[in-house]
Order: sequence, then structure tokens, then C-alpha cells
Amino acid sequence: MEILRGISVAPGVAIGEAVILEREDTRIPFRTVDKDDVPAELDKLDHAIAHSIEELHKQSAWLNTTLGHDAADVFEWHIGVLKDERLRHSVETMIREQCAAAAYATSTVMRNYQRRFMQMSDPLLVERVRDVQDIERRLLRHILGESREDLSHLTKPAILVAHDLTPTQTAGLAATKVVGVALDSGAATSHSAILLRSWGRPGVIALNDISSRVSGGDLVIIDGTNQLVIVQPNESTLEDYRRREAAFVRFTDTLDELRDLPAMTLDGTRISLNCNIEFPGEAAVGLSKGGDGIGLYRTEFLFLRPQGAPSEEEQFEAYKEAILGAAGRPVTIRTFDLGADKYTQERNYEQERNPMLGLRSIRYSLQNLDMFKVQLRAILRASSFGKVRLMFPLINSLIEFRQAKMTVHDAREDLEDVGIHAPTDIPIGMMLETPAAAIQVEEFCREVDFVSIGTNDLIQYLLAVDRGDERVAQFYTASHPSVLQTLRNIAKACTSAEIDCSLCGEMAGQPLYTIFLVGLGLRSLSMAPANIPEVKKLIRLITLPQARRVARRALSFDTDRQVTNYLRDETRKMLPEDPI
Ligand code: PEP
Ligand code: MG
Repeated sequence: MEILRGISVAPGVAIGEAVILEREDTRIPFRTVDKDDVPAELDKLDHAIAHSIEELHKQSAWLNTTLGHDAADVFEWHIGVLKDERLRHSVETMIREQCAAAAYATSTVMRNYQRRFMQMSDPLLVERVRDVQDIERRLLRHILGESREDLSHLTKPAILVAHDLTPTQTAGLAATKVVGVALDSGAATSHSAILLRSWGRPGVIALNDISSRVSGGDLVIIDGTNQLVIVQPNESTLEDYRRREAAFVRFTDTLDELRDLPAMTLDGTRISLNCNIEFPGEAAVGLSKGGDGIGLYRTEFLFLRPQGAPSEEEQFEAYKEAILGAAGRPVTIRTFDLGADKYTQERNYEQERNPMLGLRSIRYSLQNLDMFKVQLRAILRASSFGKVRLMFPLINSLIEFRQAKMTVHDAREDLEDVGIHAPTDIPIGMMLETPAAAIQVEEFCREVDFVSIGTNDLIQYLLAVDRGDERVAQFYTASHPSVLQTLRNIAKACTSAEIDCSLCGEMAGQPLYTIFLVGLGLRSLSMAPANIPEVKKLIRLITLPQARRVARRALSFDTDRQVTNYLRDETRKMLPEDPI
């Protein structure tokens, strides 16, 4: 038995035999055809392009309804490449001049195209390599009439193990018997991770080398709740997980009943449960899970599109869509959190030595004021369509917060100059995600309208553990006593200053920490919509004195293991049927 830890894309348990998607390197051997057969090869090419475009339109339509148009744009880009006459012309020339077989000519031209992207210095464009590979494979599948990656033949639940998945492969999972996914690669912001999240089944990524550790047919357990993958489990582990899997299914069935009920403790304290979203189309979908609003809209995902930086008008439309989707409920829009592991489209990229400590988030926005102002104008304009709160990421000093607020003021003046009057009562808050900001929380409370704790980053900076590096993942834990103590200090300062404080890192959606966070005094949590029902259920089973007692006790331990074990026991007492 082997236990591997990665990054979870969705909670839950999945058990099945592994299906390995080989690291595709579909080398097409050089093959020529008779001169007379050249027209037939050209036909094959045109047929493949036409069918690929048709398939992509269907997949794009599916994505549009599930995630909104930003995600569907990925496939729109593929369609754009396939419609590019120059590309077709290059393949045609090779077929005509060298009598090359269509498959070989297509593969050669697409690989040259990939190489051009690989040589680019902008990480966003480098990421396009995978899209081009995806297009190549799709074309080859049509030309060769093969369905090498066709998972539709599966007859029983399977766990898909792969190095990585292309957007196409991910989008196709819904139509297969795949119940869980484990990938070598991936970061929380990769295209595949975003699409996997919308698929909603348990998945763990960033596992480093799982695709070479597992063989087809091996039994694999995906524990999306605890970010684990268990390969060839022993009898007792398997039994334990079978129980958890069944319990999870039963449990999620019962959770639907909670949708319209408030997240209120037994003794009447209301906790606001909100959704984290990446695409505007997710607002309405997320709230259908029973959320009270959008607690974190990660706007930087607007950059997940081939066309470059989104214009003011495009941003305005996206923000408006999210705000209207929230139907009167509050929407907390976070300004671009670019840099580090996320796209920076316009930037003349030089590899930073420590990107997590580099030019990211609010620092990046304040150094690119034109871009920042465009965003702020779009947000201010859209804010007349609903209840908007504005939030800046990674605020590390009061000066930064003041500068960012001043920029809002400037953007507002720009709008006034052209006769647009945005609402003046938009709350402006900060994401508290660095140790420096945590230490200065009382000073911040004098200036901000609200605080949202970004534990994903706060933990990495407190513990000096890169949140995206699978090699140190075992050191990254919210249970570390210094994390708990820091959260206690922040909650205490905000409570006494009467500043609204919420928590929007992954921790907010992990039932393991729910009782603790309520006990600390937090009254607002924001999480992936899929986590809301379970957290809500737990909140409805506890009382405030009980939660406070648990928080006090958790704070008394001096190692993360003790904290985790204790919180797990306490949570199980409340939710014995929950496979935490
Ligand atoms: C966080 O850091 O906790 C957070 C919510 O923001 P992100 O994950 O986008 O950095
Ligand atoms: Mg963050």
C-alpha cells in the first residue's frame, strides 16, 4: 500500500481500478503516398478539421452552460487555430510537395507550431503548448480513425491516472465511467484543475509521479477530502474507505435537503456561508448549493483566454454577469491576484527566483496602474447592478492598502468625468494573507471595511512552505499551532474592532476546521460551492459554547498532529456518518 499526498480538486471518495492514460507521444512515422493519392490525403485533412471543429463547438456549448463563457473560450481558441488558413496551408503544402501522408504532415506542422510557443517567454503563451498538443491529437484521431484516448469503452467505475489532462480530455470525462482522477502534474490554477472542479468528482493533482507508480488494473482510492491517493490499499484500509465512500454518497444525498435552510448553530448564531468562484457563470450555479453570497470572486481567471488582457467592457460584462447571477446577494470581488502561479498576460516575463515572494497580487496591480484602473472602473460600473464589496489581495502594509484605495478614488473620478456615477457605499476590504498583515491586524482594522483571511497563502507564508510544491506538501497544514494562534489573534482583533471578518481559503470548506473556526468567532466562511452543504450541516449541529470549548482545546496543543486528531474526533462525534 502506498499513500500519496497532492492537491485536491474536489472532495469525496472514489474507489476503482486504475486506467492509465499513457503519456502520449504519438510519433507519426514519415510516410509518403502515391501522387495519385494526394487528393485523398487532402480530403482526410479537411474532413479531420471539419469534424474537430464540430466536436469543439459541442464541447464549448457544454462548458458554456456549466462554467460560463470564459472557460468555453479555451475551446473557442482551439476552433480559431483550426480555422487558421495559414496552418491548413502549411499542411497542404507538405502533402502536395512531399507527397507526405496527411497524418505525418499534420503532426509535423503542429509540432513546429508547438515549438514556437515553447520558445516564448510569457508563461501564459507557454501554456498554449498543451492546447496545441490537444489540437494535434484531435486531428490525428480523425485522420487515423483511432480512438486511443477513448474512455467511453469502460464498463465499470475506474480511476483515471495520468500525467496531465488536456482540456478536451477533462471536458469529456462527464460522459464516461471515470469516478475519480489522479494526476502527476497540475497547479490549482491550471486549465485542467479548473475544469476538473466543475466536473465535481473526487480528484487529486500535483502527485508528482503517480502515473509511473501505478499500473493499469491496480486498485486506487482517491480521497479528495483529505487530498490523498492510496495505491493498492490493504484490506483494512479498503474496508474503511468503502465505508467512507458509501457514507459520503448517503451523506451528500441528505445534504440536498439543507439547501434552503440557514447555517445556524443550535443556539441561534447565524454563520454566513459563501461561494468562491473563478468564472462569472458560476455565481448562479454556486448559489444553488445554498450559499448566502459570493465571498470570493477570483477575477484573475479572466486572463484564462487567448485574446490577451480583458478590456474594460469585457470585464464590466463579466462582473455584471456574476452580480446578476447572485440575484441581490452580496458579491465580494477581489481585484486581480496575478503573478506567482497565475497568469500575467501583458507582462514582459522574466523568471522570478521566488515567484511566491515576488511581484504578485496587489504589488503587481500597483505597479501596473493603468491595468488596475481599468479593472476598478469596470467593477465600479458593474456595482450598480447589485451588492458589491471590493477586496484587494495580499495586502501587506497600510501604505499598500491606502494606495489601492486611492486608485479606487481615481477610477471613480475618471468615471465621473464621463458622467458615470458609481455607488459610493461599496465596502472596501483586504485579504489578510501574510504574517506581516496578521501582526498588524489591529492597525488594519482602523482603515478597512472588512477582512477576508486567505489561509491558502497565509499558511504558506507562516510556515515557509510553497503551497504549490508537492515535495513539501506534507509540511503544509492548517493544523499547525502557529496557524491556529494567528487565526485566533485576527478573529479577536476584528471582533473587538467590530470589523466583518471572513475566511476564504480552502480551510473554510474543510469540515475538520468548521467547529474550530466558529468557536474562534468567525461568522462568515467562503468556500468552493460543493463544500457548502457539509459545512452547513455541521454548523446546524453545534452550539456556540461547544464550539468555543473545542477552539480553546485545539489551541492548547503544540503539534499539528494532535490538533488534527483532536478536531477529527470532535467532528466525527457530530457527524458520525461523514467520511472525514
Ligand atoms: C487564499 O490565499 O487563501 C485565497 C483564498 O486566495 P488564492 O487561493 O486565490 O490565493
Ligand atoms: Mg491568496
